[in-house]
Amino acid sequence: MSDQPSYGFDTLQVHAGARPDPATGARQTPIYQTTAYVFRDAEHAAALFNLQELGFIYSRLTNPTVAVLQERIAALEGGQGAACCASGHAAQIMALFPLMGPGKNLVSSNRLYGGTVTQFSHTIRRFDWSAKLVDFDDADAIRAAIDEDTRALFCETIANPGGVVTDLDKVAKVAEEAGLPLIVDNTTATPWLCRPIEHGATLVVHSTTKYLTGNGTVTGGAVVDSGRFDWSASGKFPSLSEPEPAYHGLKFHETFGPLAFTLHAIAVGLRDLGMTMNPQAAHYTLMGIETLSLRMQKHVENARTIAEWLEADPRIESVTYAGLPSSPYHEIAQKICPKGAGALFTVALKGGYDACVKLVDSLEIFSHVANLGDTRSLIIHPASTTHRQLTPEQQIAAGAAPNVVRLSIGIEDARDLIRDLDQALAKASGAA
Ligand SMILES: *Cc1c(COP(=O)(O)O)cnc(C)c1O
Repeated sequence: MSDQPSYGFDTLQVHAGARPDPATGARQTPIYQTTAYVFRDAEHAAALFNLQELGFIYSRLTNPTVAVLQERIAALEGGQGAACCASGHAAQIMALFPLMGPGKNLVSSNRLYGGTVTQFSHTIRRFDWSAKLVDFDDADAIRAAIDEDTRALFCETIANPGGVVTDLDKVAKVAEEAGLPLIVDNTTATPWLCRPIEHGATLVVHSTTKYLTGNGTVTGGAVVDSGRFDWSASGKFPSLSEPEPAYHGLKFHETFGPLAFTLHAIAVGLRDLGMTMNPQAAHYTLMGIETLSLRMQKHVENARTIAEWLEADPRIESVTYAGLPSSPYHEIAQKICPKGAGALFTVALKGGYDACVKLVDSLEIFSHVANLGDTRSLIIHPASTTHRQLTPEQQIAAGAAPNVVRLSIGIEDARDLIRDLDQALAKASGAA
């Protein structure tokens, strides 16, 4: 199938990037469980190694099953190309790697997936990179944090632990004024709820571990390039604009134009960092992605129903879901993700820390796990788990106060989920 932009989302999620297997006619994309690919002859091999011809060499760089997934995710996000990798965290490093260098920094939203806070605050310092975490609701705070060593802005569409939607258009304008690429983690929204490139994002990163695969089976990540950023204009991105010594002085941007970032991610990023997605993982994610829009519709519908029910319950102090009119992000959500504000939100219980622990232990359908974006409904109490190391003040700042639980609403019957929450809240309030 030619990936014409006129195809709708539901068609692309089933077909984009795939074609009947040229060797066997297999309709479903085969799992190409191979490490290497036989060259036609020595000349062919040399052309592949010089990037004069694109093709399969070795599965650390490219694999046909992974390549179908790359094309499919790029099509769904409206990007020029994508590189898949081993996890969402790998995708973040893959996105930053060609942009950053020793002494360089990124300016990031301070509302992030917990693991990303750790990656940005501690781990990237080992490369002599750094991150300035600021409030992305405040465009002036972003502008003030940008300096001459800044190489990217970073935020999440629907920010973890939920309830916050980033005004991507506003942030993209700040990035454009500063001549910097905007990287958006679109994991919790998925391209069905929001396509950040349409709001000005340069790169989109995903943890495909979550909704794209959908049923909690494999970890994976992806970086999608809009193909729109001029990597040569400022001289700030030499990996993409200057001669690459490992490819005989090839200039990626000059040679590959809008595919420069994607080809660099594969030919340099995956080749040398090796954070490769394996073909089995790509297969599971391709299976999941075929039903993405159907699942997201149900996730969002259930999340709205349950958030409304919880907000009206006297045992609940507050619900932070941008789909509720009471949310300060309700208006932004209608602009950025008009089909729904995702399925991830936090709930504050009047009963405090102890009630949260009792609730988590009393639920029967909801699973107590450190994951999100599963077909199953999930719950976690950040203050006793992921945010345990923080002081109560830090927990409150992170939206993870001691009386807060985070829900990831699945695609079960909403009535059953409400019944489960009702019985567990009764136990948590000591009323049972
Ligand atoms: C899970 C997650 C990540 C990290 O992805 P992994 O696949 O677990 O490495 C990054 N960002 C967000 C928003 C996530 O939910």
